[in-house]
Amino acid sequence: MWSDSILDTIGNTPLVRLQTLGRDFPCTVLAKVEFFNPGGSVKDRIGVAMIEDAEAKGLLKPGGTIVEGTSGNTGAGLAIAAIAKGYRCIFTTTDKQSPEKVDVLRAFGAEVVVCPTNVAPDDVRSYYSVAARLAREIPGAFYPNQYDHPANAEAHYRTTGPELWDQTDGRITHLVAGAGTGGTISGAARYLKEKNPDVQVVGVDPYGSVYAEYWRTGEFKESEIYPYATEGVGEDILAGNMDFSLVDDYVQVDDKTTMQMTRRLAREEGLFVGQSCGMAVAGALDWLGAHRDRLTEDDVVVVVLPDSGFRYLSKTYDDEWMRRNGFLEATPSLTAEGVLAARGRTDGVIAVAPASTLAQAIETMTAHGISQVPVMDGDEVVGSLSERGVLSRLIAAPDARGQAVAEVMAEPLPVVDAALPLDRLTAHLDGSAGAVLVRGEAGDGAPSYQILTRSDLIAALAASGER
Ligand code: PMP
Repeated sequence: MWSDSILDTIGNTPLVRLQTLGRDFPCTVLAKVEFFNPGGSVKDRIGVAMIEDAEAKGLLKPGGTIVEGTSGNTGAGLAIAAIAKGYRCIFTTTDKQSPEKVDVLRAFGAEVVVCPTNVAPDDVRSYYSVAARLAREIPGAFYPNQYDHPANAEAHYRTTGPELWDQTDGRITHLVAGAGTGGTISGAARYLKEKNPDVQVVGVDPYGSVYAEYWRTGEFKESEIYPYATEGVGEDILAGNMDFSLVDDYVQVDDKTTMQMTRRLAREEGLFVGQSCGMAVAGALDWLGAHRDRLTEDDVVVVVLPDSGFRYLSKTYDDEWMRRNGFLEATPSLTAEGVLAARGRTDGVIAVAPASTLAQAIETMTAHGISQVPVMDGDEVVGSLSERGVLSRLIAAPDARGQAVAEVMAEPLPVVDAALPLDRLTAHLDGSAGAVLVRGEAGDGAPSYQILTRSDLIAALAASGER
């Protein structure tokens, strides 16, 4: 028996028990192994779905061009479908993605435009903006926009969800998955919850993404967004395909834990998989450990493993890359508290009140020789002022000196725990703020804060000899 087209081989991927990593739990822990798809990832399911939807709606005509922003895997899925159906492909991606992913897209005959990672989504250089512009400029172009296209989550509702239900004979009790566009988790979760409303859905997010915090608070917090290495999961936008109401709990995983778990999957399970797989499994094991008392042998937990290790040979599976990024060594002992202790000055933070004038704030900053200052309303951190922000405000409106700080302040600096480890502290300080507030407790139980800047970190690292 043969397949008429490569597209007919998409889906029906195997469900495999995690024999080693899952053995310490009373429940059954299974992995949905998506690298068995012909393009090597879960995203093959949506490539063909979005193209067929566009054909049906007359948005894509014979000889047309598909333009999409992709971390790589959706591009492969679209490219395979485009080959089978005779379309041209142009993809935008970011310089964060591994070179293997770009090579794969070019191998499928696609044109690839690599855009900078660390620019805002609405910046003209971002891979979202460049894709949208190319789609406007190229005649006959179709821009699927996987983030918002309903055929994305729908493809998982139609295929991934039913496969999980059938392969477990309806016994699945927990679904654990990371989210980029949110198509996988939302589509599969919607199907499974329709079949059995008791199915629990656990989302896994990398630190540096906005999703977990948005799920917890309903607020979009810019301060949660900072660069991280894990590819394909987590976002700095809210994708239309991400349905937070279907997620029952969220866990976060740092890059180092993700990379090490990805390698363990290859070595201990024979599953040669990608980074987001390591993240999802690390998150799942963390969640299962925390809920061990409530688990029984009837529970069947499925973790989605989105893609293949071949896409990360030059990164996670390369010792030099792992070492360079600090992902190999044992967990560093330095914490935010340690950096403050090394600085030696533990008096409280210098802050300004939202009702102060800009002139008063400038005076405070000058008197203490500081270039940024938190804005605090009593115990609450409500904003921040930086030298740079104040300067551009004064240039724009010289009479701004009399304005209230509340009217001109920027987002608050990120607030972190004293026990935050070095790697996550570094990630925060890589962001645009360049400083964080370390939360402690004053004698009376009220919160107290200390500011920690990039130069504090440099001084502490130089003193400890740690990297
Ligand atoms: N892992 C990887 C490697 C991916 O490329 C993606 C898609 N960006 C995901 C996970 C997340 O899938 P989804 O977009 O369906 O949330």
